[in-house]
Amino acid sequence: MTTTRTLINPPAARPAELCESHGHLPWLGKALSMLSLEGCTSVHESLDRIAARAATMIPDAWLQVHSARYEGWNERRWMTRDELDRATGARPTLVMSFDHHAVFANSAALAAASIDRSTPDPAGGIIERVSSGPNSGEPTGLLLEAAAFSTWAVAPEPPESRRQAQITAALDHLAALGFKEMHDLASPHWLGPLLAMLERENRLPLRVGLYGLLDDIEAIAATRTTWESPRVRLLGGKIFTDGTLNSRTAWVLEPYAESPPDLRHGKPLMTPRQITDSAEKCLRLNLGLAMHAIGDGAVRACLDGIASLPSSLRLSFSPSLPIRIEHAELIAPADIPRFAELGVTASVQPCHLLADIEALHRAVPGQLDRVMPWKSLINSGLMPGKTLLFGSDVPIVRANPEDSIEAAVSRRRPEMHERDAIHATEAIDQATAWACFGTRMV
Ligand SMILES: [Zn+2]
Repeated sequence: MTTTRTLINPPAARPAELCESHGHLPWLGKALSMLSLEGCTSVHESLDRIAARAATMIPDAWLQVHSARYEGWNERRWMTRDELDRATGARPTLVMSFDHHAVFANSAALAAASIDRSTPDPAGGIIERVSSGPNSGEPTGLLLEAAAFSTWAVAPEPPESRRQAQITAALDHLAALGFKEMHDLASPHWLGPLLAMLERENRLPLRVGLYGLLDDIEAIAATRTTWESPRVRLLGGKIFTDGTLNSRTAWVLEPYAESPPDLRHGKPLMTPRQITDSAEKCLRLNLGLAMHAIGDGAVRACLDGIASLPSSLRLSFSPSLPIRIEHAELIAPADIPRFAELGVTASVQPCHLLADIEALHRAVPGQLDRVMPWKSLINSGLMPGKTLLFGSDVPIVRANPEDSIEAAVSRRRPEMHERDAIHATEAIDQATAWACFGTRMV
């Protein structure tokens, strides 16, 4: 009903064509059929939900669960490995945090991924271990960053025959929310050809811009002429320069108020030099680059990396073939004008503010004035819908654009008191917020 009402009588400020500038079609397609822990309020409620799903599955099938948010659980801790083992038995089970940067594995999944006390942390990842007592050194089950991604990848992929149904479900989900374009931010090599096939069959309900992971970008670019079309386009490469605030892996300039000892400043994943090289690689392929950077340290590294590009290449990117920073949840004041000065686009997800308010108060209580400073970015020269883009990071957060409008305009959840808004002076008006959804790159 709400959708119908919106379509019949759209607010004047709402652009006719909306663009979701940061989403993940393959994950969304999977998530629409996967068990979600969204809305759970405790470890025990989460475990009950997991046990109930496990009981309905065929023996030996992997159970993958998403949207765990321990910050929202009464206990404010992850489940223990024993607790998860009791809920799942010998079935390999992986529980993904809502931000996709942490995975909790049961004993069967750890064994399948060959992770035990002798396994070293992978580059860019952490295998959390018991710190004392008789089990000292044993993996707790919690895996962060690269360790989380590689373990999640051990679970069997859906058969190719199910991919098409999942992608179609994801596209239809976004189209029903009013989107006419979306940008996919870690596109596997098979996605472009699959979308092109859907378009040929008249089953592509929105335009899609793709960003492939940097390691795959040359291979994906090599095939682009076989699948690109007016409605499906390769836009660039994607890199990760840090993690997330919730996992305390976002790279921050000032130490966290509350974090594990080895994550005082989060976890930098790339140097400015590596960022320069990544941008150079993409620009030479005539592509843009999307850089995941959540903490102010990562944002600064990205800006430094782009500032070091040879000047001939600095001229080759533009709002239509952009170098983008994704997320930019914390930005040091000195770095705000550098976006416009360097021609860097900010691709942000205001709806994350609504989800992260508690985490922000705990992690960076002294620096809330650095959080998501959209008004200052606009004042420094970024243009809504052109170089300041809104999206949701679906399926990490639901894709309803109204959530981001709410966050951008009020900087708090509707039920919260005004004084609990995060740095309210950075609020923008509704028309400006909607304009940030008016992007067209494809
Ligand atoms: Zn994302």
